[in-house]
Amino acid sequence: MFEVRFHGRGGQGAVMAAQTLAEAAVIEGYHAHAFPFFGAERRGAPVMAFARIDDKKISIKSQVYEPDLLIVLDESLLDIEPVARGMKKDGKAVINTRKLPMELDLGIEVDCATVNATSIALEFLKAPIVNTAILGAVAKATGIVSMDSMNKAIRNRFGEKFGEAAANANIGAAAAAYEQTVIGRCKGKRPLKAKREWLPDWDQLPMGTALSEGSIDAVMVGPGGARQNLTGTWRVQTPRYDKEKCVRCLRCWFSCPEGCIKRDEDDHVHWDLNYCKGCGICAQVCPVKAIDMIKGGQK
Ligand code: SF4
Ligand code: SF4
Repeated sequence: MFEVRFHGRGGQGAVMAAQTLAEAAVIEGYHAHAFPFFGAERRGAPVMAFARIDDKKISIKSQVYEPDLLIVLDESLLDIEPVARGMKKDGKAVINTRKLPMELDLGIEVDCATVNATSIALEFLKAPIVNTAILGAVAKATGIVSMDSMNKAIRNRFGEKFGEAAANANIGAAAAAYEQTVIGRCKGKRPLKAKREWLPDWDQLPMGTALSEGSIDAVMVGPGGARQNLTGTWRVQTPRYDKEKCVRCLRCWFSCPEGCIKRDEDDHVHWDLNYCKGCGICAQVCPVKAIDMIKGGQK
């Protein structure tokens, strides 16, 4: 059995990628299944999805704990969770990054393929939805399914849901990624144990029914806990504010889905970019074009 674990951010299409890979495997004559792991996620929060491929019927239904193939749709996840945990020693990794495989440290030295799927997605889809680009890299790096079957699966899934133009754009992204994927080996020096748990065990909780702000064994609990989960690190475009143009209408402050625009005492605004996901809503609602979205995740 060939087991695959996807790590991505909400909004990058990890679940569609897992389903499309499974469909491509079925087209090749295998048995396959795919399913997501969702918690209290939202756009930008870490998510996982899984796929299994076998030449026999698959009865196991658990998450994938020891993947043959690890797929990381957002490189910044490497710094916030041990994505390669449980990976088989002869496993393979496919990572969306500008870096070469030898420049990456996954915590386990394995065959590794890298591709700048974000830039390809921005070119072909005009959005940082990297799922089909990463599938092109998967076809090249693993050969588990052919590019032909991958294209058919992309056409089925994306064509049915978003129309023929979207299917063609996604097939174009996969083909470009197939060409640009670099195959090598990554380093394995990074510790693979979790930096932190999200919540303490019940017997570590303070007395009382409500958690106050604070930390237990360096794990932040209670209000403000999201400070450890810097959801803005995957942003691919960043708002730039022109204070001179701003008429202080506060539409951006009111509209930001992340609440990361702060209101100053004089009703000018500033940003907490640790949590800005670059959706661009603030720029769209600004009546005087005082906000531009600049390419890149810079501060
Ligand atoms: S781009 Fe603007 S609206 Fe979107 S998360 Fe960032 S600050 Fe908020
Ligand atoms: S929407 Fe534009 S004009 Fe209004 S407060 Fe925000 S930046 Fe200023």
